[in-house]
Amino acid sequence: MEKKKAGIYSFTGCSGEQLVILECGAKLFELLELIEIKSFLMAQSNNEKAILDIVFLEGSITTKKQEKELKEIRTHSKMLVAIGTCACFGGIQSMNLGEPGWKKRFQKVYGDNDKLFKAMEPFESKPCDTFVKIDYYIPGCPMDKEQFLHSVARILNGNPPYLYKFPVCTECKWKENDCLLLKGIPCLGPLTRGGCGAICPSYNLPCVGCWGPIEEANVASEYKLLIEKGYSPQELQRKMRKFGGVTMMEYLKKIKKQVK
Ligand code: SF4
Ligand code: SF4
Repeated sequence: MEKKKAGIYSFTGCSGEQLVILECGAKLFELLELIEIKSFLMAQSNNEKAILDIVFLEGSITTKKQEKELKEIRTHSKMLVAIGTCACFGGIQSMNLGEPGWKKRFQKVYGDNDKLFKAMEPFESKPCDTFVKIDYYIPGCPMDKEQFLHSVARILNGNPPYLYKFPVCTECKWKENDCLLLKGIPCLGPLTRGGCGAICPSYNLPCVGCWGPIEEANVASEYKLLIEKGYSPQELQRKMRKFGGVTMMEYLKKIKKQVK
């Protein structure tokens, strides 16, 4: 079988997915029998621009410069796979999405630097699919090594990645944990993609949604329940969009009438 040409590109994020790939150990060497990595800035210095069969994208898009780069990558890639919650949903950097004053926050971190502002043209964090067509998604914060390897194996065999369709609550039940929501603790397990093994609730900590929103999440139901428990709408919005980004904001917009 001819080796597929692959690239790994990173935008705004913590580089967690690149580290997960590098941490695949012996499995990574098996993978390299099947793919040829043409671009992977964290791992190699000889990176070339080529027509690529599979490109993995990490991180969210937060500047005009990145937007242009992403669009350019799309032109020479046959398939784009968003890896990690930032690339899939916008990531934790979307925690203040929609709130005015982000420019001030940007300046607080980077200084009142007009030159930098003009060069970067920053904007609020957006997932990759805001700008280009994404073929597949592998969420997680960071993504799970096994799920990554399994997904790549399926892609190389011409199949779409198989992602868990159930929420964190399902894994939590398998572990026979007591439900934190019943104790009035705002756990986002019902709204969040499974795959992490319900790590946080297993340690009595509420899920903060770091694997991103699950499709068909019943946001209205959890929202109503937490309002009844005494949480304010502002607090809930902040919690839900922390990792849910644009996708969660869309869900919240849709349920606005239902939860009034
Ligand atoms: S503790 Fe959280 S993840 Fe576990 S069942 Fe309750 S809501 Fe779901
Ligand atoms: S925050 Fe939720 S999705 Fe993230 S690791 Fe904890 S339980 Fe899993």
